[in-house]
Amino acid sequence: LQQQLINSEKLSAIGKLGAGLAHELRNPLTSIIGLTHLMKEQTGSNQYLPVIINELDRMKNLVNQFVAYGKPSKMQRGECNLSQLVHDTIDLMRNNACERNIKIHFEPENTTPVVHIDKNKIKQVLINFIKNACEAMPNGGNIKVKFDDNVENSMIRISIKDEGVGMTNEQLEQLGTLFFTTKETGLGMGLPICIDIIHSHDGKIEFDSEVGKGTEVHIFLPLYQERMDIL
Ligand code: ADP
Ligand code: MG
Repeated sequence: LQQQLINSEKLSAIGKLGAGLAHELRNPLTSIIGLTHLMKEQTGSNQYLPVIINELDRMKNLVNQFVAYGKPSKMQRGECNLSQLVHDTIDLMRNNACERNIKIHFEPENTTPVVHIDKNKIKQVLINFIKNACEAMPNGGNIKVKFDDNVENSMIRISIKDEGVGMTNEQLEQLGTLFFTTKETGLGMGLPICIDIIHSHDGKIEFDSEVGKGTEVHIFLPLYQERMDIL
């Protein structure tokens, strides 16, 4: 029985890891598939491309079918200038957003918040929220990202606001439930993973949303210097 328990724990750990990986594989895979289709259009008849596209589609289906919760891997925290991280992350997404008539604005104002975070994980969180904001605006619009350090003691608030479809109260209640999605090709894994990452940073998350008007996501993270004071 003991062994069985250990095995089931291992299996669940592997399942979680796999799901997290699958979620991360989705974006690059989508790019590769898009580019391969483009190659096929440009180079015309190539005997290998249809095979490659077919295999890539199989991979995409596998990734999409993955059904377990991806728990983030071990945390690697370090001191980080949040403005820089947000800047870099937005730069990464700007081209893609631009093609969809979406403009991303960042107003860091005068704060340069220093936080103690796992950079890659918080970057993943930012990417997921900006992606959701983009997907909520199929006809384009503006995304506004800003900081606020006066909302709560020792916390920095990062707000990501879109002008998208918004959410009903029922949808808001279901937010963060694993596999909850309203999108045809959605996985419903982005938010649960993000919430988990934010909680593991002793942070929290809040949503303001109105149908037809848009959504604002508030991410709260502890400020590093303040934490040192407490210690
Ligand atoms: P997915 O994006 O794969 O659907 P998520 O976990 O990222 O999964 O989001 C779950 C659901 O939450 C979405 O399908 C959508 O209904 C809702 N949602 C999240 N962010 C937004 C947003 N910015 N505007 C409107 N709805 C949102
Ligand atoms: Mg998403």
